[in-house]
Amino acid sequence: MVHVGGFSRRCKLARVPITVMGYRCERCSHEWIPKNFKAEPKVCPKCKSPYWNRPRGKAMMTYEDFRTKIQDTLRKAGTDLTWTDIRTTAGLPQAFPNNQWVYRMEKDIGLERQKDKNGIIHWRLK
Ligand SMILES: [Zn+2]
Repeated sequence: MVHVGGFSRRCKLARVPITVMGYRCERCSHEWIPKNFKAEPKVCPKCKSPYWNRPRGKAMMTYEDFRTKIQDTLRKAGTDLTWTDIRTTAGLPQAFPNNQWVYRMEKDIGLERQKDKNGIIHWRLK
């Protein structure tokens, strides 16, 4: 005797969804499967955006925007500020300052940072 019911039940159990890993563009929501995962794609294959893997809001702040905000905030305050003070006053989205930008600002706008005896870093303009 052949148990047809048991056979069809096995068939059903064998059907499982398979998730394929791929990339998704933050700009146009295009999803694609790369040929390999060795290197991150440089641009989205559909909209060609190089910012395909960066959420829209964060990619908008350039070094120039950042520098201007820091400069304005320190000038208006007229005194030393900590990163937290600057961040709060200027409404900056970054939790931590980008080190490369900080070095550039030391050259560009004469930013100085000095650590006090409590280990707190004070930001000021020369
Ligand atoms: Zn895209």
